[in-house]
Formats: sequence, structure tokens, C-alpha cells
Amino acid sequence: MENNKNMRSWLNNFELSHPLVIGGPCSAETEEQVLKIAHQLKDSDVSIFRAGIWKPRTRPGMFEGVGAIGLKWLQKAKKETGLLIATEVANAAHVKLALEHDIDVLWIGARSTVSPFIVQEIADALNGTEKIVLVKNPVNPDLALWLGGMERLYSANIKNLGLIHRGFSSYEKSKYRNIPEWQIAIEVQNKFPDLPLICDPSHISGRRDLIFDISQTALDLNFDGLMIESHWDPDNAWSDAKQQVTPSKLIEIMKNLKIRKQNNLEEEYKSKLDNYRSQIDVFDQNILETIAKRMKISNEIGSLKKTKNVAVLQNKRWKEVLEKMVIEGKEKDLSSEFTRKIFKAIHQESINHQEKIINS
Ligand code: PEP
Ligand code: MN
Repeated sequence: MENNKNMRSWLNNFELSHPLVIGGPCSAETEEQVLKIAHQLKDSDVSIFRAGIWKPRTRPGMFEGVGAIGLKWLQKAKKETGLLIATEVANAAHVKLALEHDIDVLWIGARSTVSPFIVQEIADALNGTEKIVLVKNPVNPDLALWLGGMERLYSANIKNLGLIHRGFSSYEKSKYRNIPEWQIAIEVQNKFPDLPLICDPSHISGRRDLIFDISQTALDLNFDGLMIESHWDPDNAWSDAKQQVTPSKLIEIMKNLKIRKQNNLEEEYKSKLDNYRSQIDVFDQNILETIAKRMKISNEIGSLKKTKNVAVLQNKRWKEVLEKMVIEGKEKDLSSEFTRKIFKAIHQESINHQEKIINS
């Protein structure tokens, strides 16, 4: 991927002193709605106005977008406000229509990135375009699928590329609609250091009260921009109502975010430090979640032992586990003393849990 050196150039063209912001409703609903929101976002940090025209919905029967007519509304919004316009494309026919209507930014949605056939079809339809093309991560946490999508677009000679991180779906319930899995975004950033990386806190959170914190984390992790869904009447939006914010709320979010600039050594130092600390926060969170999951399994074992009236401590098994971890820890440059301490603490917590269960 040697031709990715100047990829940030399209971002530089915006000449911004703040992160790039893509704002606008989840879906275009009516011409009035599109124009009203575009005007409310006109004098804000938003440079690109988004609205979905074709909506990929997980279940049939939901609002599936207004279709091609919405492209005309977007054009009108651009003409009246000067904002660039963006929409999602999910097949060759969408691409053709979007290009005919001179849409500036085309993004590939998470449900499309999962399918190499679809991505290839879109890449072929976009071949050689000067338009900005943004690729959302696939719905499932599969870095290779995301990278493969980028490779298909590179091969179609698309120069103005970027990435959108919108989180990953999971079977397990969490406070997020789509779990951020920040380490995947960090990896993708390491793989494509010259590609603009944009965070979509709306689809990560699924709820508007989390958007600020997710955006701040993204900026601390050196993301280049944010895509935030915004509607003049969020609660009555035809899609994704819970996660949309009013234009004035979007403006307030942008005002309160701490933007890390790298314009002098002190700032650069602070920005690097914040970046590393944010990465550490991500891993700490993962450690805690993994331990909590381990404890749940251990509780199950406690219940099993109770039915069979077996002792909590199975010394032989515990010694085997510990020795195996010490060896693996050494391979990962962790001292045996440290590994022993950690696993003894985890084991003790496990015993405490099982004791409680057995004696309940
Ligand atoms: C959207 O941006 O409205 C959308 C459908 O997003 P995603 O592909 O991330 O689900
Ligand atoms: Mn949406």
C-alpha cells in the first residue's frame, strides 16, 4: 500500500483548526427537514452535511429511506449553505445516482463493508473518482474485512479515502449500541497512518448522552474527525431517534471537547501522553471486563461443586493453571513474580465467590 502517503491531503484542503465534523440527520425525511437542519448547522464546525437516502435496516418494515429524490434535497442544501454533502451508497446503482447528483462524500456503511462482493461492486462503480470515499468498519469486529475493503478501493484507484469507526455489534448486551473496541481503531490507524480516521459516536452509543465522552476519547486517540447525527427534532426522527442531537447540542458538544493541537513541543508532548493514556484506559477496561467474565464462569463452577458437594480448592488443577500462565507470561516479557501475584489475586477472588455460593 505504498500510495497512501498523500492521503491526508483531502483533509488538509479543509484547512480546519478543529476536527473535521460531518453532521446531519440519520435519514433525509422531507425536503423541509433536510434544509432546516442544514441551515442550523451552517455556521458551526460542520463542514460536511450528511443524510441517508437509502437506509440499510436490520429488520424489514422500518423506514428504508426516501430514495433518489433525496439527492435533489441534498443538492439544494449544498447550494443554500455551502456545506459539502454526503450520503451512504450500498450498490452500483446508488453510486451512479450519487455521482450524477455530484454528491461530494460517499460512505460505505457497516453492513456493506462485511460483504466483499458489495464492496467490489461499489469500488468498480467508483473507479478513479475524485470524490471523497469513507469506509465504515464492518459490523463484526473483523479487522481483516475492513482492511480488505480498503484494498479493493485502493485498487480501484480512489485517491480520497478515509475510515469511519462506528463500533461493532455483539451478542452480549452492553451500554453501547455498538461496542467501540478501540484497539481495532488503534490498529487500523497504525496500518493506515496517512488515512483520515473519523469516529461515529452516534452509532457507537445508540444514545445521545454518551456522544460527548465517546467523541472525547476519539480525539484523545488522535482521530481526525467526528460524524454526529443531528436532527432538529431528534425524538421524532424517522430512524435512530435516540442517538440524534439537535444542531445546537452538536455545537455545544464541539465547544466543550478538548482538542489536542500539535503546534509546539509542549502540546505535542501532552497530546502524545493523552493518546497513550487513552490507550491504557482502553486496555484497563478490557482487563476488568475479562476478569468479570472469568468470575461469572467461576460462579458457575461454584454452583456445580455445590451440587456434587466438592471442595472449593482443587489444588492440582490450580497449580497447573498457575504454572502454565507463568510460562506464557515469560514469553510476553512479564516477570514470573508479577504473573504469580496477579493470578493468585484472581484465584483468591474466585475462591471467595465460590465459598459464598457453596455456603449459600
Ligand atoms: C448511518 O450512518 O446512518 C448508518 C446506517 O450507519 P452504519 O452503517 O454505521 O450502521
Ligand atoms: Mn443512523
